[in-house]
Amino acid sequence: MAIHTAQHLLSAVLDTYNLPTLSWSMTQYPSLDCPYIELSRGLTWKEVEEVEEKCNKLIGEDLSVWVETSMQEDGGVDGEGDRESRGIPKDYEGVCHFTWMITRADDKGVIRHINIDGIDRNACCGTQVPSLSHCSSIHILPPSIPSTSTTPSKSPTRISFTAGPRALRYLRHSSRQFSLTAQAVGCGRQDLVERATRNEELRREGADNVKGLRGELGRLVIADQISRLNGKKALWVKRDERTTHDFEFMGNIASGVNTSDPDAVTLVTSTLPGKDQTQLVLVQSSDQVKAKELFDAVKAALDGDGEKRVKGGGAKGRFMGKVEGKWGKAEDIKISEVVDKVRVSLCVRGGHMS
Ligand SMILES: [Zn+2]
Repeated sequence: MAIHTAQHLLSAVLDTYNLPTLSWSMTQYPSLDCPYIELSRGLTWKEVEEVEEKCNKLIGEDLSVWVETSMQEDGGVDGEGDRESRGIPKDYEGVCHFTWMITRADDKGVIRHINIDGIDRNACCGTQVPSLSHCSSIHILPPSIPSTSTTPSKSPTRISFTAGPRALRYLRHSSRQFSLTAQAVGCGRQDLVERATRNEELRREGADNVKGLRGELGRLVIADQISRLNGKKALWVKRDERTTHDFEFMGNIASGVNTSDPDAVTLVTSTLPGKDQTQLVLVQSSDQVKAKELFDAVKAALDGDGEKRVKGGGAKGRFMGKVEGKWGKAEDIKISEVVDKVRVSLCVRGGHMS
């Protein structure tokens, strides 16, 4: 009831901003998700604070809230003075859509108005508190735009709020979250925003640095591998670094080698110690048939005795697979044999032995 009356109050205050409430919704207790009203546009932080202050001032004045009923024939329909009745259809029969409000058959055509003394009157069949002090206080959650922004969303936006006993629960929960977050980043509550902002700056800076270093490392690996090609047409680039254990880095290496020698078939493996790791294999060549041949041979070698360890596939000369389980010396030997075989077959096919 406190939430419902708070919603009427909030909608009434927002009406003075020419912001009619399009809809509203309340989550079931004990959810900590806040109720919301929907407006045709978003609000700025400043507007939210201003509206919240006005609502709380009115709650402080403890204005009375009361129900007034009128019959449909009395002009209760299409009345101009109130918010919600403007939308009541002419064939309205006064059957309440709130399940907890039982409407007697002889109540057909009854229009129920909720009044907040001096500030609001609107058609509603829900239950309300008798005066605003029962709402205790109202809090409107800050919008997701930056606190200094003066350009709120121009599309329909939900404005979340809380009031009454739920507001206290919400405060308790928020305060605990606040403390836990401060502990997680290792600072006092009062320094949390500053610390989190700085941490985010450092994270971005770190990510940029890693990107730069990966690019530079990639170029060095490619140059090194090209120098090892030495007439060979199949290459195995074996990597075991956690920081480059991803298909993006592996693909860049393979592309770099293929740019230098379009006839080469490059196999890149990236393996990490431990049986819970996912090992990665990538095969690339501008010759799609050769690439598929090598990928199939790698899969067959690793799959072993009826065990399917490699999942993946590809097209257009690039094949990628994830290998389940530990990667050890046995896998290295198998791959080495496969690459050697392909090397020989490519050289025979190409008409020269290396
Ligand atoms: Zn209502």
